[in-house]
Formats: sequence, structure tokens, C-alpha cells
Amino acid sequence: MSAARRWSEVAAGVFRIAVADVNCYLVQTTDGLTLYDAGLPGSRGALTEVLAHLGATVSDIDALVLTHGHFDHVGMGRMLQSRGVDAHVHPRDVHLARHPYSYRPEEARVAYLLSHPGGIPPITRMALRGALGVRGIEVAGRVSHGHPVDAPGRPIALWTPGHTGGHCAFLFEETGVLIAGDALVTLDPYTGERGPQIVARAATADTAEALRSLDVLDESGASLVLPGHGEPSRDGVHADTAAARRRGAH
Ligand SMILES: [Zn+2]
Ligand SMILES: [Zn+2]
Repeated sequence: MSAARRWSEVAAGVFRIAVADVNCYLVQTTDGLTLYDAGLPGSRGALTEVLAHLGATVSDIDALVLTHGHFDHVGMGRMLQSRGVDAHVHPRDVHLARHPYSYRPEEARVAYLLSHPGGIPPITRMALRGALGVRGIEVAGRVSHGHPVDAPGRPIALWTPGHTGGHCAFLFEETGVLIAGDALVTLDPYTGERGPQIVARAATADTAEALRSLDVLDESGASLVLPGHGEPSRDGVHADTAAARRRGAH
């Protein structure tokens, strides 16, 4: 992805920041600015560009909301906290956010990558953007299923475990925008494959549970699905989850 295309406005006031196949989303609502996921350390330049477009700086971000605690979603977390940004995560991912490499996927990553070489270029791009040096953050687990997050825009948290134990998606009910995180992606960095799917066993704690959590995403009825990796989908959440179920665990 060229430097000029590292960010785009995907819906009114919703900005996708895409660096090294990792997305985070800056959402501007009447009550403030919220960042959904903290990308990689190397996502900072693109974040700065979006903020400049809005006439803002990092200190103007009111809240950081994490879909989960993996290293590729907390990369700028420490920097943001040092600027006074309030962070939110589900209680079951508090430990992971503190130790963002401490998870046990279903399948060992190195062996998986050797048998799925399509995943090596995305992983290499992530590493070049600082993916191997992410430090964890201390964050209180105040996100709870079915309730609005105490952050600007007040999206509804949808607990979607499987990829991690505390993974959540976030729904803006009025606009039908769903921040899906890694509950449903359109690019799997571990295989390089595109299209709606759950993330590979190499990075998912429980693929059976991840497939069951697609039912939770369905209940959102979202029209715009914003994944943690890959392009946004405007096909409607039901089409995306159906495709992900067909592909299944991998
Ligand atoms: Zn993840
Ligand atoms: Zn991820």
C-alpha cells in the first residue's frame, strides 16, 4: 500500500488507517474522537496524517478502544496513554493487552507459516512496522457485552470470543457501522488469503468458538463491516459471515 493511501474515510467521520495489512479506525463523532485499535508502532505516521486532516493532534483523541489485546492492535497504545488517552478493553483481554505476545494459538505459528507460505509477506511487512517490539499496556477491563462503551459515539460492545477470549466488536447502531476487529477479517495475514473469514489457527485461540461468534456479528445487522485486516466490506454482515462459515476453520 503506497504512503498516499494509508488512510481513507470509509464512512462519514470514520477513517481507516491501514499500515502493513493492519487496520485501525479513527472515528469522529459530535462528542469526540475515538481510535479503535492501536495498530503497530509504525502506524503512527498515518495516524498523524489523519489527525492533521482533521486539524487535530494525538492529544485530541479522547479514547482508545481495543477489539482485543494482540500485539498488532496495541502497537501505539503506550504512546497514546502517555498523551492521556483513556483506554478500554474487555476484562478477558486485560492480561493479553499487558503481554500482547502471550497467547497460545491452536497451531504453532512457525510451523503454520512454513506450510502456508502466502502468509510470510504480510508477516514480514508487519515486522518491518515494529510488530516484534510492541510493549503492553495497563488497561482496565470496562467493556461489557451488549452495553455502550464509555467513549465518544458510545458504540455497543459485542463480545465475540474465539480469536481471543475477550475479543469484542463494536456497533454504531444508527449508521450500521461495525468495527469487527479480528472476529471477521477480509485478509488473513497468516495465509495471505483474501475474502471474509475468521483468522487462521496460527493466531486464533479457539476456531470453533470464533465460528460461533459469527452469530453475534449477525445480530448486529451491520451494513458496513470494518475488519482488523483487509478491506472494508459493504456486502452486509450476513453475506460476510456466510462466506466465513463456508471457509470455516483453517
Ligand atoms: Zn488478533
Ligand atoms: Zn490482528
